[in-house]
Amino acid sequence: LDMTDMNRVLDFQEGLNAVRVQPGIRWGELHHELAKKGVTAGLQGPHGFLGATLGGGIGGNCFSINSPKYGWLNENILNLQVVLPNGDIIETGSLANTKVKDWYYRYCNGPDLVGIFLGAAGAFGVITEFTLRTYPIPEYSATLAYSFPDTDSQLKFVFKLEWYGYVTDLWGIAFFTLPDSLKRILAPLVGERDLAIFATEAYDKDIFKAQKKAIDKMAKEFGGIALPVEGICRALGIPLYLNTPVLEITEGSVAIGWEGEI
Ligand SMILES: Cc1cc2nc3c(=O)[nH]c(=O)nc-3n(C[C@H](O)[C@H](O)[C@H](O)COP(=O)(O)OP(=O)(O)OC[C@H]3O[C@@H](n4cnc5c(N)ncnc54)[C@H](O)[C@@H]3O)c2cc1C
Repeated sequence: LDMTDMNRVLDFQEGLNAVRVQPGIRWGELHHELAKKGVTAGLQGPHGFLGATLGGGIGGNCFSINSPKYGWLNENILNLQVVLPNGDIIETGSLANTKVKDWYYRYCNGPDLVGIFLGAAGAFGVITEFTLRTYPIPEYSATLAYSFPDTDSQLKFVFKLEWYGYVTDLWGIAFFTLPDSLKRILAPLVGERDLAIFATEAYDKDIFKAQKKAIDKMAKEFGGIALPVEGICRALGIPLYLNTPVLEITEGSVAIGWEGEI
């Protein structure tokens, strides 16, 4: 089934932080629509796939850019409308109560029927509508880069960063795993140290400042050295703004932009 004609935003409830959409909507289209409402899905879609559908992401249990902060796509699903193989149309969660129209909760009295259809590759029915969590757009964000003496310290730092909730998206790079061409570019910048390149974000200027200070202290605990992030991202060919879907286009790369444009 090609679901891409079912790509509409059906309802948005700011107070409930929830948007009701059809499953054929592509990640790029969703970001575009949510930006107009001044909110974000948090998740930005599987790496490099703004043209993939949200329904496909649900069926395939997709993780995403910004999953370190916002979880997997399916952890953000509140309700589903599903057409079962016998033709019945069911609603799950709070919408299973027929008196409820736009009150979006996943967990109610009774079993969690949403879970049966998540990551199920469409085996138990076709999802025709779903509700997704939305979040306020963080006003402050930055990409930071640190090098570490070895993989053990790098990983300990990364785990701690996650526990404290400071990381939005992250690339961890062990030097020894890189191809020789990249080793040659990176060695003059970082020696043979392992890298953590990550995005961090906050809603408040003072909290953001304090958060960056706390991260710096945490990195130093594990022998981390702060790096000039722009140079490192350019050397590795990765986007500077890790937590947004706007990809930096470098020679030879292909990016899918807003609304599936290439
Ligand atoms: C090179 C590459 C890199 C990737 N990187 C990542 C990554 O970083 N993270 C990640 O999580 N994934 C990654 N993926 C996988 C990616 O998440 C999926 O390819 C993408 O989400 C599929 O979207 P689609 O619109 O093509 O779905 P489809 O391929 O059309 O569908 C996927 C599955 O969902 C089912 N489905 C679709 N719509 C519905 C519906 N309405 N109701 C019920 N079932 C439905 C389909 O039957 C199918 O089983 C990558 C894939 C590739 C090829």
